[in-house]
Amino acid sequence: MKKELDPWMHSAGRILNQTMVRMYECNRWFGSHIRKKKSKCDYVFDRPFTEEEINQIEKRVNDIIQADMVVSEEYVTREESQKHYNLDRLPQDVGDDIRMVKIGDYDACPCIGPHVNSAKEIGTFRIVSASFGNTVLRIRYKCAGFAGN
Ligand SMILES: [Zn+2]
Repeated sequence: MKKELDPWMHSAGRILNQTMVRMYECNRWFGSHIRKKKSKCDYVFDRPFTEEEINQIEKRVNDIIQADMVVSEEYVTREESQKHYNLDRLPQDVGDDIRMVKIGDYDACPCIGPHVNSAKEIGTFRIVSASFGNTVLRIRYKCAGFAGN
């Protein structure tokens, strides 16, 4: 496991991802920078976010956190996983058993990074800023009061 990945921020990022996918039918982030103090995720998008949209996304993510969904993992074959997920960003050397990380029934995605055990550990999710340029929407976020604080 990559040590520099922070489990709280990482899990929050997954929930943000799924929220973006559900609300805007966009793709999961194509790039991310997950750090303890502040993280950022990049999405291919067609316009800037409004203030209201930022608030909406924030609220949805916090609703999922408050629902305290259990984070679990299961291993599936590469073939099975490939039917549903793009594995391009997983390292080649992870082998044929792919670790799927599930956040309740909200999100499931192939992943090698550390996660929290349940969503409430994340604390309060807050979007610091959302900027847009060259078809890229960049969302910067923080988590306050998470278990690792
Ligand atoms: Zn993950």
